[in-house]
Parts: sequence; C-alpha cells; structure tokens
Amino acid sequence: MSSGERVEARIGITGRVQGVGFRPFIYRMAVRNGLLGYVINLGDAGVEVVVEGEKSQVTRFLRDVREEAPEVSEIEDIVTEHRPYRGKFTEFVIDKSQNRGRVASGIYPPDIGICPQCLEDMATPGSRWYEYPFTACAWCGPRFTSVRSLPYDRERTHMHEFPMCEHCRKDYYDPMDRRFDAQGITCSVCGPKMTLYDTHGKPMESDDPFIEVAEHLMEGSIVAVKGIGGIHLASLATRDDVIEEFRRRKNRPYQPLALMSQDLDSVRTYAKLDDDEVRVIQSWRRPIVLLKKRHGVISELVAPGLDTVGVMLPYTGIQTMLFKRLSEPALIMTSGNKKGLPMAISNRAAFDELGGIADYYLLHNRDIVNRSDDSVLRMIEGNIAFTRRSRGYVPDPVDVPLKKGIGISFGAELRNAAAVATNGKVFMTQYLGDTDTLEGLRFEEEAIQIMRDLLNVTRDPDVMGCDLHPGYMTSQMAEVISRETGVTLVRSQHHHAHIVSVMAENNVSRDDEILGIALDGAGYGPDRQIWGGEILKSTYNGFERLGHLENLPMPGGDLCAYHPYRMLVAGLSNAVTGDIIRDITENHVKKALPHGKMELEVVLKQLKNPEILKTSSSGRFLDSIAALLGATYYRSYEGEPAMRLEALASEGTPELIDYAIEINRIDGKYVLNTSNTLYYLSNILNKHKKQDIAAFGQKYLSDGVSEMAIKASEDTGISVIGLSGGVLVNEYITKSLMKTLCKAGLNVLFNTWVPPGDGGTALGQVCKALDSVI
Ligand SMILES: [Zn+2]
Ligand SMILES: [Zn+2]
Ligand SMILES: [Zn+2]
Repeated sequence: MSSGERVEARIGITGRVQGVGFRPFIYRMAVRNGLLGYVINLGDAGVEVVVEGEKSQVTRFLRDVREEAPEVSEIEDIVTEHRPYRGKFTEFVIDKSQNRGRVASGIYPPDIGICPQCLEDMATPGSRWYEYPFTACAWCGPRFTSVRSLPYDRERTHMHEFPMCEHCRKDYYDPMDRRFDAQGITCSVCGPKMTLYDTHGKPMESDDPFIEVAEHLMEGSIVAVKGIGGIHLASLATRDDVIEEFRRRKNRPYQPLALMSQDLDSVRTYAKLDDDEVRVIQSWRRPIVLLKKRHGVISELVAPGLDTVGVMLPYTGIQTMLFKRLSEPALIMTSGNKKGLPMAISNRAAFDELGGIADYYLLHNRDIVNRSDDSVLRMIEGNIAFTRRSRGYVPDPVDVPLKKGIGISFGAELRNAAAVATNGKVFMTQYLGDTDTLEGLRFEEEAIQIMRDLLNVTRDPDVMGCDLHPGYMTSQMAEVISRETGVTLVRSQHHHAHIVSVMAENNVSRDDEILGIALDGAGYGPDRQIWGGEILKSTYNGFERLGHLENLPMPGGDLCAYHPYRMLVAGLSNAVTGDIIRDITENHVKKALPHGKMELEVVLKQLKNPEILKTSSSGRFLDSIAALLGATYYRSYEGEPAMRLEALASEGTPELIDYAIEINRIDGKYVLNTSNTLYYLSNILNKHKKQDIAAFGQKYLSDGVSEMAIKASEDTGISVIGLSGGVLVNEYITKSLMKTLCKAGLNVLFNTWVPPGDGGTALGQVCKALDSVI
C-alpha cells in the first residue's frame, strides 16, 4: 500500500438511488478501492457515504461511482465534503439502521425490464435460474406493479407467498451479490411457477409449458399470457387469417395491435428505426414505440391503414422464454381486456373476461398487485410524445413549480390518468383507459388510493381538480368526493388544463404568462360549445381565448366524432348551400353515412337549427378531410380518422396545392377559417392525389394555427408558446409547428413527460387547483 495523504470524506448522493441496488453497488466500489466506512439510506434525501482512505482512492471511488452506476439509477448530484482523517473504521459496511434500509416515500421506482445479467443467468445451464422465467435482481424486475404498500419489504409485495429458499437467503444477505437486499429475489426452487390452462380453464400437464404455447401459437391459437403488469393476448403477427379471427373475437375491427419481437434485428425486418428510437425501445423502461412500417413481413392487418406499428422488446423472463421456443419475427402482444373493461390481472379475470377470446392461458401463481398497461410513445425530433404513459414510467414524478400543498385531480374521460401532487412533485397514475364506465371509475379510485399509499398521503388533500365538463363521470365523482369531504374542487377548462400541463412540466414560473396552442379532439368550453383548436393566453390559474378554429356545427353532437362524414357536411354548410352539398356528396353519401341520402337530409335539416352545438375542434377538422378522401367513414377507435389521414399524408406533397390561409377577426379573436378550405378541397378531389390533399390538410392546420399564434405573440409581447392536445402525437403537425414557430423567434415548449393527449390533463388540473388556493 502506498502512503499518500489520508482523508475522510462524507459524500451525499441524490437522485434515483433507492430500490435499484445502489447501496450494494457503493459497497462494491468502496471495497474495490480499499476504502473503509459505510453507506446509509437517507430516504428522500438519497444516500450518504462516509469513507476513509487515501485521497487518490477516494478520487478513484468517485469516478467509479459516476461511471459504473446501475443503469436504472440516476445520479442527480454528488456532494463531497473532506474532513480530517480519524482512522475510525475497520471495514466498509452497509448500515441499515436509518430508515432500516427501506425505500422512503415518493422515490419508488417504476418496473424495470429484465437486465442482461439476469438474462445470462437464464441462459446458463446448471444455474439456479436456467430458463427460470421469474429471474430478477436488485437492478431489475417488477417494482410499481408488485408493491401493496410501503415500506418496501418482501411481505408487502407480490412475493410474500414465496419465502426464500436457503440459497436465495444467502444471496439476499451477501452485499457482494447482485441480489443483495433485492425484494424480488427468487429461484426455481422457491419461486412462482407457470401453468398452462386449456380453453375451459383446466390445468394441462406439461414439462415445458413454453414449448406447448409455442406450438399452439404456430397453429394459429390465441394465448393469454400473464406478465408483470397485466395479461396479454398473444398470437402470430404474420398470418392474416389468425389476425382476422383475433379481431372478430375481440370485436376490434381496425384498432392497431402492439407487437413484441425477440430483438432489434427481428424488428428491423418489418419496421424502420433511427438512433433515438433504438435508444428508447431498448431502454430499461421498455415502452411500445411507434415505428414506421416496412411492408411484407408482418400482416397488414396488424395496423390497417396506418404507416406505423407499435413495437416493444421482451421485458420479462416469461416473454424471453416464449421467444426462445419460437422463431417468429414478432408476436401480437396486446392488453388482454374485454371491451369496456380494464386489462385483466388475476387468473380468475383471465378466465372470466378473456373466455371466448383466448384458446389457452399461460398463467402463473404470483399476484399482479397494480395493473399497468404497456406504455406507448413515438419519437418526434428526438423527443418523446406519449400516447399512453404507464408501465416503466409510473410512478416517476413530474417536478412542478407549485411547491406546497397536496392536490388530487381526476383527468378527463377517455384514455385517462389521474394525478396526486405533494411536495412540489406530481405523480401521475398508471394508464386508466376509458373512465366512462363504473369499472373504469372504480379503477381510477383504486389507482389514486394506491398512489396515496405509496406517497404516504394520509390526510385529505388541500384541493382537488377536475374537468369543466359536467357530463364527465370523473367530474361527477370529484364533485361527490368534494361534497363528502369538504375539499375545495377547482374545475379546469379542458384545453387550459392541456396548456398548464406543458407549463408545469417545463417549469414555467407561476408569475409568467405563455401562449398555448391546444390542438385536440373535444373539450367543453365555458361558452358551452365544444373547443379543440385554441390559442390561449395562459397562467396557471387563468386564461384568455385569443384565437380558435372556425366554429362548425355538430349535427347530432358526438355522432360527428363517430361518423366523420357528418362533420364534413357540417363544415361545408358554413361555406355553401344545401344543394351544392348534395352535389358534392352525390357519389359518396351512400357509403359514407350509415343511412345514405336519407341521413344526409336529416343532417341538412339539423344544420338549420340555430341552437345547434358548435365546435372549433382541430381533430374534427382532420376527421372531415379523412372522410372527404374516403380514408374512413366510421371511427372504430379513438383517433382513427386522423391517424389514417396521417398515414395517407406521409406519402403526399402538401406544397402541390396552392391555397391561402384565411384568418378572420371575429369578436376580437383570430379565427382560422376551415369551411372554405373544406369546400376548396372537395373541388379539387379529381385534380390531385389523395395523398397530397391529406398532406395539405395537415399543413393548413399547422400553418394556420402558427400564424394565429405569431399574431397573438405580436399583440401580447409573449414569446413562449406551449403546444399540447391529442393532435400533437401527429408527427408532421408537431414538427411543422415547431419549425414555423422557432423560425419566428418564439420559444416552443411541449409535453415530453406526460401525454399531450388526455392522459396528461390531470397534471394541468392539479397544478391549476394548487395555484388557485395555495
Ligand atoms: Zn437483473
Ligand atoms: Zn430460491
Ligand atoms: Zn384533450
């Protein structure tokens, strides 16, 4: 040993350093560098390391900690304080006295995809984990989906029924072992097991259920596969007949189905990936990433009419084993739920709710505590745009500038998520699906309660937030709770909530005003009309509407969302007479409206009603163009017409169509005309390719809205623009808005940590609510 200067150092490390095997990592690095001392858990404050040794050893130790930290950990800050050497320690220890080594509230990690070391254990014959599908360690495995309550001890997780065997116990207490202190540690001797069940739910005897499942899949069967956050339905992705049958049984004619592939090479046979997409699809969070399709390898019926396909890589040992027994480029792996119900998570629910869909059930005897669907996102210019934020991301919080108080918010209605705010952080719940049913609402209540338990929020919140829409069941539930508890309820206009979500995740100061562009499907406005294409001057708790898309009538209200041709007729009616509309629609109306000409006459009559509901929705504008082009006449899932339009548009050249943006000034607001545009496009249907018209429609919307925002910025002197709303998952529109607004010298903010769609509104609601009362 050399005799350099000896020191004592106190090192504070903050960030994601809990529940990810960080202390044993510190232990190994300290021992490797010959240091003595201890590491201790400080709960919310991170970990504290005290070491003594030579100065150069401490320097090397700090370098190793930064360079070799477990992938899932995120070091925010390392603060080192040198003290005089005292020679106090005789060894390096993991001190569990403070917080008793437990994860404190608010810093609990999301589920972590299986790590390379565990995969290696599964691939090594003779190992205790050879082909064992529940292999996990301190660095990987279920987290959020496994825990009932804190503190994070084995008894409070889904492992409580599986006491550790002698070997596992040894690893658990050995700080040099990767499984040291890992609550999910288990092996083939002591852990859960897989069982294959037949159509009637009867267990099937089998030495290797994975071989049998692979055979059944190859025969074209649909198999329910229980994982960590829920139960998937799996089938071949290469055979049209199998997918047709799948869709028939699921009663989902067109909704895109997610795929899972063994590795990136398999993905590349049917989809294109750039570097950003490779990074995110391979990350430990393992989301579904929407990728551009290549044609030929997988069936076109996986995502009919779309140019993207959702793909993920295996994140559990169960999925790894499945692919080991198969040689397919991809499998369909979609959430196993009955229409209108959240995904099944128990074996009982699998048989009850997926009976009639699944032919076989590959299940296990470990509980799924918290349901969590796969997250879905796409990369736009290197940034994440979520369509669903759930497994792998929840419960990672959003840091917001509202630092005080406890708030709870209930979100919108479809594809919903709720939020709990405490200590300057907002925790979004997992994806709730549609909360317009009693089952959906019950799930929402449960999800909020679980989040409160994990965060140790036991007292009533200071304030609650919900949508302004009186008809949303979530608003009604919020009202009931507010009445029962006396907690103040703050309602948010839907698009204001979208904009506040952008402000919050970008840490816009509470004193600042921004201009928000909300491009969305539908939200209730204070004028009782349906909004959805808005320029809002916003603070956290207030807004002024400076511009919007033209108000178009909605004959039959919500019917317009399901039958976009109605919306087209309504749009045209603002520009031309009924007779001209009859001419334009003559050759299409039979296919485009369920009751053909008769229905058209009813619609034209409805349009004469001066009391008719009106909408400025940009989603409905895009839907109308999709209907005009015959891309779809019936919306079988949320967002379908606009998504089909986007697929068409991706092959078009918008510049081929020369038509000027028309912005009017009505009641002191900028109004982007859309009815004349629809009429113009209906006139050039025969002169231009559908693809070009589709592309032009998107361009008109993004250019028109940018122009209104730029004018509003000149009027107000505000140069920060926040973009949000469901339309922002459209790649072309988002890119084009960013480009135009940046070129005009504006500072553009968008959602990258919560969905720009309705899964992000709870964030805006809770921030508005906190800002209003605290
Ligand atoms: Zn692992
Ligand atoms: Zn064991
Ligand atoms: Zn919305």
